[in-house]
Amino acid sequence: MEKEPRHWVEILSDRIVAEKEEPYIITSGITTSGSLHVGTLCEFLFSSAIERYLKDKGYQTEFHFIADIYDAFDAVPINLMKYEKQLTPHLGKPLCNVPDPEGCHESYGEHFFSEAIDVMKILEVSPKLERANQLYSEGRFDSLAKFFLKNHEEAKKAVSESSLKQELPAEWNASMPVCQNCGRIATTVVTEFDENSYSYKDTRDVGYTKGCGYEGENKLSEHKYKLTWRLHWPSWMEVFHTSVEGAGVDHHTRGGSWDTALAVYKDLFKKEPPIGYKFGFILLKGKKYSKSKGIGLGVTDILDLIPPELIKYTLFRPDIQENKDIDPTGYNLMRAFDDYAYASRIDISGKEVSRADRKKAIAFSLSTDRMKWKASFADLLMYKQLYGDWRKVGELLQDSEGVEYLKPYVEKWIAEEFAPEEYVFSFQPTKQSDMALVKEFAGRLQDAMKAIEIHNLVFEFAREKGVKPEDLFMQLYRVLLNKEKGPRMGKLIEAIGVNRVRRTIEGM
Ligand SMILES: [Zn+2]
Ligand SMILES: [Zn+2]
Repeated sequence: MEKEPRHWVEILSDRIVAEKEEPYIITSGITTSGSLHVGTLCEFLFSSAIERYLKDKGYQTEFHFIADIYDAFDAVPINLMKYEKQLTPHLGKPLCNVPDPEGCHESYGEHFFSEAIDVMKILEVSPKLERANQLYSEGRFDSLAKFFLKNHEEAKKAVSESSLKQELPAEWNASMPVCQNCGRIATTVVTEFDENSYSYKDTRDVGYTKGCGYEGENKLSEHKYKLTWRLHWPSWMEVFHTSVEGAGVDHHTRGGSWDTALAVYKDLFKKEPPIGYKFGFILLKGKKYSKSKGIGLGVTDILDLIPPELIKYTLFRPDIQENKDIDPTGYNLMRAFDDYAYASRIDISGKEVSRADRKKAIAFSLSTDRMKWKASFADLLMYKQLYGDWRKVGELLQDSEGVEYLKPYVEKWIAEEFAPEEYVFSFQPTKQSDMALVKEFAGRLQDAMKAIEIHNLVFEFAREKGVKPEDLFMQLYRVLLNKEKGPRMGKLIEAIGVNRVRRTIEGM
């Protein structure tokens, strides 16, 4: 079979246009139970790419991003351990009712949602922001909750079958009451219910916290409940009339929550479900990012090291289900910059382009409106090491605007010691004991020579003299940089200045 030539966003968009009606509604969401992790980027970047693509094609779209801050606060994250004493009493409460330990937002859930919003701004993602607690308190889930309570047995069956569980606990209920006494949502159990109201007791022990023992009752219309996750997800898609929503591969396993969403649509709502898609994990050098295990970098680290458009390109180029490696170190980042520059020059209108190039070009078009720099990353780095002064680097590379834009990333990158060893150097003319060969080579350099000509000259000259090119390279690096390795020699001599190199060596 011929390989699919289309980019994943084309495949998905074609399907959306064929199966759904305008405006196309794209939804996604996160539970802001702590600081963002790199994987969170997927939750809004892929949806924003789909929206951008559909919009560019002239379709009407809406993108709703839901903060699931009505979820239970179930653990004090490692980086907040200094607040452990003040946070622990709030375990089991909805995140929107836990105080913000830093004191700058209405709640714990809001605090971390605002972190996510800041990251979205940097990545130029601007969905309509929704909050689960508000949606519930506005009664947007009431008719669905009523429906699940009324059809309790069917709902229970759909959840248990789709999650491959033979039997759900006897006390299973679609709704999770918030205890009116202590405010916990994780520990309550519904004891009796009809389609409009329920009684509950707050008696469960969930390991990280225990119920207070209170018994109470509420009407759905009082909005003191949340739907259990497996029903909450299809319900929010129903609330927004979602056309398409993605989730990580972990939700798309057999018996996973996407299977329940499909079962709820088919067996209970008796409707066509939204189109689902799954995305792979984000890896660092093949390992899953995990702050708690000390693998990888935080989102802010990544944003300080890699320009937003390059992050997007890196995530958008591969097939969506694949795991993606974001590696901001050494030659891997330099190659990513080169690949991005290459992608920016591919023209897919009309003439034949390869499948790989087509995907690159589309990923590029989803990443930015325009290329913000002209200079290559390797040149930028080399000129920075040679000249120090960014203004001078911008002038020499004839790309002042681009250099200004990339400057903070390169500085951070150098400070983090992510530059490959060949690019950690300065111009340090150093006399060696035997200068004869290098001096003769310098005599062959002509002012007008370009990098490639200089590069070729090294090989020609080495052959002529019967020495190995590697040996000549090493001697030149020693003389120019006082090191045995460096950037490509042709580029390096061009960057230092051919005339300056010749005079320096001849004067030794
Ligand atoms: Zn805050
Ligand atoms: Zn309670």
